[in-house]
Amino acid sequence: MTINHALQPHSDVDRLYLPRSSGGRGMLQVHQTVEEEKRGLEEYIKDSEEDALKKVNKEKLFNTNETKQAYKKKQVKNRAEKWRNKPLHGQYLHNISGKSDITKTWQWLKNGNLKKEIAGLILAAQEQALRTNAIRAKGKKSTTNSKCRLCKEADETVDHLTSCCKKIAKTDCKQRHDKVAGMIHWNICKKYKLPGAKHWWDHKIEKVEENEDAKTLWDFRLQTNICHTIHQI
Ligand SMILES: [Zn+2]
Repeated sequence: MTINHALQPHSDVDRLYLPRSSGGRGMLQVHQTVEEEKRGLEEYIKDSEEDALKKVNKEKLFNTNETKQAYKKKQVKNRAEKWRNKPLHGQYLHNISGKSDITKTWQWLKNGNLKKEIAGLILAAQEQALRTNAIRAKGKKSTTNSKCRLCKEADETVDHLTSCCKKIAKTDCKQRHDKVAGMIHWNICKKYKLPGAKHWWDHKIEKVEENEDAKTLWDFRLQTNICHTIHQI
């Protein structure tokens, strides 16, 4: 997978074999599959009325004493715990726990619309497995400077680059924000029958749109009652 750019070199391996709905890559692990089949076969033989199979059952070839489903559940649970307990790879899980809708968080993985290279990169970013300066300085000791290459102020972590760096807040981060907000704007326009393009990606946003039912404002500063000025649509 690494040769084919689907898995970053320092990315998490346990995560490969977890269901996509739990944040994994949904692959079957060979050893686990063999063990599952042993248990499946044992269950089948145990319930058989056939003489030959009854004799096989007496031999207790596998002697696992657990069902295929129970074994599978246990394996997934252990693997998920192993991932969660790793200080760097599990950090993202701790960060989102109690704050995000976990089912929706992994929806993009379950949908599987992204190229394997991009999915691998996003997962590596979540696992702190990209060689940012902060990681290089702390873990690998290949540099002593942990600061961001752009602003040179804060530690260069993935979180800093995706949401905190002053140098890109007004350019790349704003562009990304506006693209996401633009899709929401397009959906609102559709709902209230305001003018909008056929596809959200072609949508041209006007600062003000209005009809008898609704009014949209784009890129306005709004004063809220807790004295925060927020950027809103
Ligand atoms: Zn920075």
